[in-house]
Amino acid sequence: MKILHNHALLPYNTFRIDAKAANFFEVFSVEDLRAVLRHGIKPVLVLGGGSNLLFTHDVPGLVVKNSLPGIRVVRKFSNKVWVAVGGGVVWHDFVCWAVGQGYGGVENLSLIPGTVGASPVQNIGAYGVELKDVFVRLSAVHLETGEQRSFSKASCRFGYRDSIFKQELKGQYCITSVVFSLTQHQHQLNLSYGDIRKTLEVEQVHTPSIADVSRAVVNIRRSKLPDPAEIGNCGSFFKNPETDPAVLDQIRLHYPDAPHYTLPDGREKIPAGWLIEQCGWKGKRVGNTGSYEKQALVLVNYGGATGAEVQRLALNIIESVQQAFGIRLEPEVNIR
Ligand SMILES: Cc1cc2nc3c(=O)[nH]c(=O)nc-3n(C[C@H](O)[C@H](O)[C@H](O)COP(=O)(O)OP(=O)(O)OC[C@H]3O[C@@H](n4cnc5c(N)ncnc54)[C@H](O)[C@@H]3O)c2cc1C
Repeated sequence: MKILHNHALLPYNTFRIDAKAANFFEVFSVEDLRAVLRHGIKPVLVLGGGSNLLFTHDVPGLVVKNSLPGIRVVRKFSNKVWVAVGGGVVWHDFVCWAVGQGYGGVENLSLIPGTVGASPVQNIGAYGVELKDVFVRLSAVHLETGEQRSFSKASCRFGYRDSIFKQELKGQYCITSVVFSLTQHQHQLNLSYGDIRKTLEVEQVHTPSIADVSRAVVNIRRSKLPDPAEIGNCGSFFKNPETDPAVLDQIRLHYPDAPHYTLPDGREKIPAGWLIEQCGWKGKRVGNTGSYEKQALVLVNYGGATGAEVQRLALNIIESVQQAFGIRLEPEVNIR
């Protein structure tokens, strides 16, 4: 068992924050994980691709880097195929595998950074699809007892960028594998969200395949979001707030064209990026950090920013939006 000490986390987080882990252990099998736990060391952080984490200081305990591999078909029936995927598999590699096999359901989630093991934690979503739409169950190991447990969809309590693993069970389990239900044929394509349909029309694709949709999503994302390999970021820093209709009415007195989306329960979802932009933050640089020029919701590290610096900027943005609109933004990113 090789535990590394005082290990640099810079290569392991897409915000490119220079933090250190007091102890660091990479797991390639559930047995590796159990071996560490048998030594009585409780990991303080399970790390996937580090694409939804902001380190504001060094991590004092043990960081477990999840590199559990494997993609295998476990069941085929009627139009469905169930696929079990190791928690350490890179999410987009799994999407590419599915598209390559002709299996549908995850093409709209193309190019989301991170690992499969982290995908249920915040119920990742993009372009009208969420992880819960294709989720069957997951396996996880309890970080104190080493006990293995299976979680059904209901027991994960998925919500908007949320699950039980961000709430009551936060930091208690390592998700070791996830089973997905995909379609083998008669795919239900979801083209209505964002620019997918428009992009396909420009490409003159009239009867799109899942590969066409995946390619369109990749192209749209590349044109809108900063590539973490070039500029440090964690994608959307804040969640889109859900408010009472009265709050939206108030905003519309001054901004009649304020964008919003009415939820099934009658509440209104307002794009956080729009709120931040109205407060003048879009493209604004503060020291080594700032709000991205093409999307105000994305905070970036221009190089050399500390986590505390990014957190300060986030707090200032929260304060501005609160003062201007009476809405308190909540971070989507996990701040440590
Ligand atoms: C450019 C960019 C675009 C993005 N776009 C989207 C998007 O469209 N939609 C979206 O939903 N997200 C998006 N994200 C956020 C991010 O990609 C997802 O949240 C992703 O699921 C994080 O995976 P990760 O492996 O990097 O997790 P990490 O950042 O390593 O960890 C995130 C949290 O999950 C916990 N965790 C990680 N792995 C496990 C595990 N195996 N078991 C238990 N807990 C675990 C960690 O402890 C931490 O609390 C984007 C990020 C970037 C940088």
